[in-house]
Amino acid sequence: MENTAEKKRSLNFIEAIIEDDLETGKHKQIVTRFPPEPNGYLHIGHAKSICLNFGIGQTYNGKTNLRFDDTNPTKEDVEYVDSIIEDVKWLGFKWEGKPVYSSDYFEQLYEWAVTFIKKGKAYIDDQTAEEISANRGTPTREGTFSPYRNRSIEENLDLFARMKAGEFADGEKVLRAKIGMDSPNMHMRDPVMYRIKHASHHRTGNKWCIYPMYDFTHGQSDYIEQVTHSLCTLEFENHRPLYDWYLDNIYDEKLTRPRQIEFARLNLSYTVMSKRKLAELVENKTVSGWDDPRMPTISGLRRRGYTPSSIINFADKVGIAKRNNIIDVALLEHSIREDLNKITNRVMAILDPLKIIITNYPEEKEEELTAINNPEDETKGTRLVPFSREIYIERADFREQANRKFFRLKPGSEVRLRYAYFIKCNDIIKNETGEITELHCTYDPLSKGGKSPDGRKVKGTLHWVSIKHAIDIQANLYDRLFTDASPDGHKDNNFKEFINPDSLTILNSVKAEPYLKQAKPNEKYQFERKGYFCVDKKSTPEKLIFNRTVELRNNWAQKDKK
Ligand code: ATP
Ligand code: MG
Repeated sequence: MENTAEKKRSLNFIEAIIEDDLETGKHKQIVTRFPPEPNGYLHIGHAKSICLNFGIGQTYNGKTNLRFDDTNPTKEDVEYVDSIIEDVKWLGFKWEGKPVYSSDYFEQLYEWAVTFIKKGKAYIDDQTAEEISANRGTPTREGTFSPYRNRSIEENLDLFARMKAGEFADGEKVLRAKIGMDSPNMHMRDPVMYRIKHASHHRTGNKWCIYPMYDFTHGQSDYIEQVTHSLCTLEFENHRPLYDWYLDNIYDEKLTRPRQIEFARLNLSYTVMSKRKLAELVENKTVSGWDDPRMPTISGLRRRGYTPSSIINFADKVGIAKRNNIIDVALLEHSIREDLNKITNRVMAILDPLKIIITNYPEEKEEELTAINNPEDETKGTRLVPFSREIYIERADFREQANRKFFRLKPGSEVRLRYAYFIKCNDIIKNETGEITELHCTYDPLSKGGKSPDGRKVKGTLHWVSIKHAIDIQANLYDRLFTDASPDGHKDNNFKEFINPDSLTILNSVKAEPYLKQAKPNEKYQFERKGYFCVDKKSTPEKLIFNRTVELRNNWAQKDKK
């Protein structure tokens, strides 16, 4: 008994409803669905809905459909269908049977529309879209009845058939539900059910020139699929009475009636999360495409180096809420760090090179030093890293004027080169403009492996690469795409004003240890001290390209202070 109580407490409110429905015998099998409209690529918000719907299917041994709500032929495209299928698969979820489409139900929806007309609950309106909108009223002021509202059932049936037959132009007529014009809920004021669109549909081709509205499609599609729990985001709460009204008129009591439950959308700080806005960023070339690593799309996150488990864990941590809020993007980054820390091999690469000559190291000598691939995972073993007289370190790891707290390289003091030796800086070489071009150092041959020969302590440890052996790679570094924490939160929807012009830095000649020569697209590495990197999909052995997924720790807080 205690165990059950314990378990109940950790359920989210949707799972609690489902467990109740199973216990009371209301449902024997749970059916959920993920219903994207194929008008863009999926984003991290969709991932939350995917995890919720498919997760419930898994937990309760139920079924989850992948259904495309494809009612708008002019905005939808097979490219989007394909990308959505790829993304859901990549996250590791399996849908029931084949993907399904609302367009599979166009015939049934049409028949239902005819039923509504026959019951005197729908009519053909000749008003223009502008007139309909103007006559709708406001939440506090009643709307005005359409002058066409009292057409006879026969006339409505005839006009609807002729709409379907293509006799009218786009916008000339619509089919509207006959509910009333006084509800405080604007969705209930004689909503449009069907519109004319002489447009080819990505699945039904030119078969139809009238298309059902989303609201006349979504609820009935759930019903057709016998979905038990229709999970959707809060903005559809207002639509629920309309979905109910439609179902009330066609519902068969012997069948399951879906229960709609709303939950809060996921919003992430420093990004926008609407397909329309993301599409705008793609169209105006702010980003290179839907899968640009700066995009909050699933394909963008994948290219950036995110793993499915990091996204699923993130969705889990965020949980299911009833009220909208903004989640700190740092939580997502934390989740991927946790994952990459466990799975990536460490390598050394210098993003901003400064040359060092180790003056007491023999000119022709070369050594191979043993480096640990992943201190978190012994099974990953070791590799050999070449060492020689001339090496690169990061420019920022040397300071000519440094205080006592600076433990990296400074004149006259010692640092450890990771897996190599202790070195000490003796001379600074500058060019005419005063810029440091190289450092002359000496090493202690007895400190091989970076181990102190006599117990003397060295605080700083630097990564490095041997110049003679280094390979050139490209590294793409990312900053946030927006400079404002909630670019979506401004009144006039001017999110584009907050685009960060410096969100991408391309470093063309990063110096890396030769081990990376064999790096393949999508592989992930930790560049010691510099962050986690993922090999870009366009990377080739001739031109290796790495995208930085995240830095090793959250440095945003400090950057924000500057
Ligand atoms: P957008 O506003 O980004 O265009 P949408 O809601 O129009 O999103 P759909 O394709 O209709 O996109 O969404 C498919 C499913 O994903 C819906 O059930 C929707 O509620 C859910 N969903 C969309 N955005 C989010 C989000 N930010 N958080 C959680 N669920 C979401
Ligand atoms: Mg939508």
